[in-house]
Amino acid sequence: MNAATSGRGLLVVLSAPSGAGKRALRRVLLHSEPQLRFCPSVTTRPPRAGETDGVDYIFVAPAAFDRLVEQGEFAEWAYVFGHRYGTLSRSLETVRSTGADVLVEKDVRGALALRRQYPDGVLVFVLPPSLGELKRRIVSRGTESPEEICCRLSRVREELEHAGGYDYILVNDHLEQAAANLRGIVCAERARAARQKHLLGAYLDAGEDGVE
Ligand code: 5GP
Repeated sequence: MNAATSGRGLLVVLSAPSGAGKRALRRVLLHSEPQLRFCPSVTTRPPRAGETDGVDYIFVAPAAFDRLVEQGEFAEWAYVFGHRYGTLSRSLETVRSTGADVLVEKDVRGALALRRQYPDGVLVFVLPPSLGELKRRIVSRGTESPEEICCRLSRVREELEHAGGYDYILVNDHLEQAAANLRGIVCAERARAARQKHLLGAYLDAGEDGVE
């Protein structure tokens, strides 16, 4: 609960080239920041080994995804690597309205689309230690075909070109350190004066009675 700040939770949008380790980073961060909730995207991509429906993603059939598009349920959606991925507006709104902070993972187009709708969102781009290391990680996880690996690597340059429009860039060379840096960003963003206005208001409203 983050009601001590503005009553409305923070929106943190994480992007990274495929294989930069954002899933592991998310896990470490959520473990140490209980007031941060992960809002999974809806996707038509089949689950990978180790992924859980409703936790990592909400996995749906293409027809179900079409219905959500028709019903206007998505804040944004996009084709990424041949599958569709979308952000449910209602999930973001519901969690944020309780005062809890929300973490989402999006590609660069999704992140920039969310920024237009939620200008108070915080955009963080995660870089791998190097492009060579990125390739090694994607190949070694063994979940993509050689064609898919090629496609993911060719998208990296395009994604990097947009990273300058983010609020923060982190290098994930050491998971614990990168998670600590990300935690630092979240804490600093929570403390921004612009997000603390209603807290100041509460102090001022207390007037002389609040002074010991
Ligand atoms: P993966 O299949 O590797 O989990 O994700 C592929 C890409 O889709 C990643 O860059 C991920 O951040 C992105 N992605 C996941 N969910 C969404 C979403 O809801 N919208 C958009 N635009 N991209 C997403």
